[in-house]
Amino acid sequence: MAQRLIGAVEAGGTKFVVALAQEDGTILARTRIPTETPATCFPAMARFFEQASAAHGTIAAFGVASFGPIDIDPASPGYGTFTTTPKPGWSGARFHDVLGRFGAPIVVDTDVNGAALGEWQAGAGRDCATLAYTTVGTGIGSGVLRHGRSIMGFSHFESGHIPVPHDRAVDPYAGFCPYHHDCLEGLAAGPAIKARWGQSLSELGSPTDKVDLIAGYVAQLAVSLVLLHMPDRLIFGGGVMKTPGLIPALRRAVEARLAGYIQAPQLDPGMERYIVGPALGDDAGITGAIALGRQALG
Ligand code: ZN
Repeated sequence: MAQRLIGAVEAGGTKFVVALAQEDGTILARTRIPTETPATCFPAMARFFEQASAAHGTIAAFGVASFGPIDIDPASPGYGTFTTTPKPGWSGARFHDVLGRFGAPIVVDTDVNGAALGEWQAGAGRDCATLAYTTVGTGIGSGVLRHGRSIMGFSHFESGHIPVPHDRAVDPYAGFCPYHHDCLEGLAAGPAIKARWGQSLSELGSPTDKVDLIAGYVAQLAVSLVLLHMPDRLIFGGGVMKTPGLIPALRRAVEARLAGYIQAPQLDPGMERYIVGPALGDDAGITGAIALGRQALG
């Protein structure tokens, strides 16, 4: 049987990666488009898919893994629409307005759910029934998968904005979240680190006290994910998590905070199997978008 074709979109805050792929994941064409505004980005995306389709055949489904906030409820009339994003021009933009012309089903999910799906299919989460993937970079967000499907409530999760204990005697930084100031993202995302110390943790040479401070904040989320979802594994990706020593510090902080309360074979002593980095690196997003397209195929 001939392979059906999937249009895949990894929509990031600075660039879109768009690809035409076969159902089996083989990428036939791909390009990058600066995110800028929908007025420039969306027509460029349409042109790419028109040209790729002319060269390779009809597109049978689209999978979109996007930055947000975005409506990811398939039952909602606004499915695929950016909501309260502070990114100029993007609030109200809808993927269906540009991809609808191809007449193929479209599945839209968050970038972090897409990355989670990519890791579940082909990376560090392959053997997990329940998987939690968190990115700590420009922002912080988590995706939770159950048997390869992302779970949500009335909207996608906003794990970056959980409140965390903040000892101002140790860390006087006020936090940068415009809504909550010192929520997790306000204290531990990349911009908070740069605003507080002038450089990234890696550029600072990964000093132990600073790495431990950020690991302690991120550990609050990790512990919450364990307690709320009991995932088989926690994957932590994103630019901040590439800091040397941060994942080991996170493992120590999570183990200390759980304090032996959860006893399960998944939680190995030292947590080297339980808390890991991503295996797909920069390909997790587009791999996840292709997997979302496969879901759209039904
Ligand atoms: Zn916040």
